[in-house]
Amino acid sequence: MGILEVKNVGKRFGGLQALGDVNLSVKENTCHAIIGPNGAGKSTLLNCLIGKLIPDTGSVMFDGQSVLGRKPHEINQMGISRVFQTPEIFGDLSVFENVMIPCFAKRDGSFRMHAYESCDAETDIIAKAEAMLDEVNMLEKRNVVASSLSRGDKRRLEMAMCLSQKPKLLLLDEPTAGMARADTNNTIDLLKTIKAKGELTMCIIEHDMHVVFSLADRITVLAQGTPLVEDTPENIKGHPKVREAYLGE
Ligand code: ADP
Ligand code: MG
Repeated sequence: MGILEVKNVGKRFGGLQALGDVNLSVKENTCHAIIGPNGAGKSTLLNCLIGKLIPDTGSVMFDGQSVLGRKPHEINQMGISRVFQTPEIFGDLSVFENVMIPCFAKRDGSFRMHAYESCDAETDIIAKAEAMLDEVNMLEKRNVVASSLSRGDKRRLEMAMCLSQKPKLLLLDEPTAGMARADTNNTIDLLKTIKAKGELTMCIIEHDMHVVFSLADRITVLAQGTPLVEDTPENIKGHPKVREAYLGE
């Protein structure tokens, strides 16, 4: 039994069946990649896992508990964090302030402005935020206003914000989309370091096959809302169905 068990999940938008009958089992402390063409339903599936969308059918179990019917913040508190397709950071705040927010939220259960305002006295939170920024190699950019960061750094900042919540499951929706090669490689290295600690399960949606094959233990190929095949990266590479659906051959 995996830490994440998705069974027979379906989701329809009006006349469009975005997800047909999705089954997915993700083992604890592994990296599971979901690949597939644009419009395959990858983001819709992730949205069903975090409570942003409610599936029409099926079940989603995380760590032995159902996530269905729970609000996104409740699911987050269960231990699921997500790096969005478009980075969701506080553009007007500094890098350091951005990471302080989830550190407070983790400790207090919710983010309270008065707690943040008294941050001078909150040495434990400051130490945690600094350690987090160090982990993603952004400590020297701590005073930079977040909106002025490069795309790659915005992603890294968002990852630091997610990781500071100490999630059990990190969901990543195209974490290297639009990144230059150097930033992509930095992201791969960062995710490899996180993975090597063996304390976190990752589910990654990614178009860049170099990223997928560098990180994934298992790969699910989604096409038109239905998983075509699930296997190891080695077996996926040469799979005829994958070449047909994903590479258009
Ligand atoms: P992917 O992430 O694999 O590119 P999505 O999950 O974003 O695909 O989309 C799957 C399908 O569902 C697409 O055809 C998309 O246009 C449609 N879709 C996604 N979200 C919505 C929505 N909120 N309302 C209507 N259609 C949607
Ligand atoms: Mg998407």
